[in-house]
Amino acid sequence: MDDTPDTRQQMNWDSFAHWGAQIAEWGADYHRTLRDRPVRAPLTPGATRAQLPQTPPEQGEDMAGILADLDAQIMPGLTHWQHPRFFAYFPANAAPPSMLAEFVTAILAPQCMLWQTSPAATELEGVMLDWLRQALGLPEGFTGVIQDSASSATLAAVLVMRERALDWAGNRAGLTGQPRLRIYCSDEVHTSIDRAIWIAGIGADNLVRIPVTGPRRGMDARALHAAITTDRAAGMLPAGVIACTGATGVGACDDLRTVLGVARDEGLYSHVDAAWAGAAMICPENRALWEGIEQADSLVLNPHKWLGVQFDCSTHYLRDPAALVKTLAIEPEYLRTHGAEGFVNYSEWSVPLGRRFRALKLWFVLRFYGLAGLRAMIRDHIGWAQGLCEKLRADARFEVMSEPVLSLFSFRLRGRDEAAQLDFLARVNDDGRIYLTQTRLDGQMVIRFQVGAFSTQAGDMETAFAVLDELAG
Ligand SMILES: *Cc1c(COP(=O)(O)O)cnc(C)c1O
Repeated sequence: MDDTPDTRQQMNWDSFAHWGAQIAEWGADYHRTLRDRPVRAPLTPGATRAQLPQTPPEQGEDMAGILADLDAQIMPGLTHWQHPRFFAYFPANAAPPSMLAEFVTAILAPQCMLWQTSPAATELEGVMLDWLRQALGLPEGFTGVIQDSASSATLAAVLVMRERALDWAGNRAGLTGQPRLRIYCSDEVHTSIDRAIWIAGIGADNLVRIPVTGPRRGMDARALHAAITTDRAAGMLPAGVIACTGATGVGACDDLRTVLGVARDEGLYSHVDAAWAGAAMICPENRALWEGIEQADSLVLNPHKWLGVQFDCSTHYLRDPAALVKTLAIEPEYLRTHGAEGFVNYSEWSVPLGRRFRALKLWFVLRFYGLAGLRAMIRDHIGWAQGLCEKLRADARFEVMSEPVLSLFSFRLRGRDEAAQLDFLARVNDDGRIYLTQTRLDGQMVIRFQVGAFSTQAGDMETAFAVLDELAG
């Protein structure tokens, strides 16, 4: 191999091919041995920083040295999100075909902001969103766009709520002198909703939290209706409703049929955050959780969580994209495409202009596994989570605190205080064989357990129980 850099320190393509193959080997070894590593990184602040030079190199270095330092300095400080016993937060899967697609995307590095800047990327994106729409059982007519994150999709939806309620005056004239906008959600929703409200200039005080009721912890639709009526009477301007299917804490689900019905009857724009749970809707038996979804104006779900398409790939569906485009499209002459019609420019559907080629990894993953393969994976995860939940329920040392919603449930040590729960969780995570996180449920500290990693096998669930059993004493 000719590894001699030319005088401008370019990597020549023989060298690129060599290192590309090395990294593929390195990646396969990493995944072959992942099961034997502790899931969570050791938490010693400053440990990585202490190993890095304080100043940048003046002369270029060779790849061998850079990769050696990757192993020596970076790898020991990583938490392994692809680990088969990662049961914390929600999954962030990177299935192997998705990794390969990202490698291709990294090589081509196209900008996908306008149709003409990458026609095939734009058209593939449209087709992938329609494939996924069909897989999810969403009605024909829903169209979509791939955003970088659910947070961005929710921000875009909140901006639409604002502009639509103000008859598109906000973008032009600002919010000074406008009536107080009001947006409604339950108190279970993700913090990305709070931030969207801040950034849109609506203000946290105008995000109205509707109390939840029932086992699914959904918004009380009557309280929602009452809040809207009260706000109107006080001269405020209701603008939108944000519902959730599978909230982060314990998987709360709003009753979309009633909640979206209230939004529609009140003329409010609606957005549904199904960032995690939406993926499970490729299995028809789970769709009862979002019954009524066809009434949503806007909906986000993250293939980068449970569908194996690595971050970033968040699919944002719209019943009618016109309001979104009217809110976000800006078309100076230098971005105009002359002489062609019948295409979309996806940058008009999102806050950033520049866009990565994210549809490619969705294409690779959907084709490689097929819907049947993805459904089987999700069904395994749900079954395993429910199996573990039953095992803990049958054990007097544990108490199930929230019933499984898909593959997420929560539990705690029975009859022990908050400090004991946190101490138990710390011992479980320091042990390294599994990784769990906590949440607060009706004021109480509970431990979350979710199954969603593509690499998880039945035996990993047995290990999970063994760890909990052993450390609960
Ligand atoms: C993960 C998650 C989000 C945030 O997703 P990003 O893509 O990281 O912005 C929002 N809402 C819910 C319910 C989530 O699970």
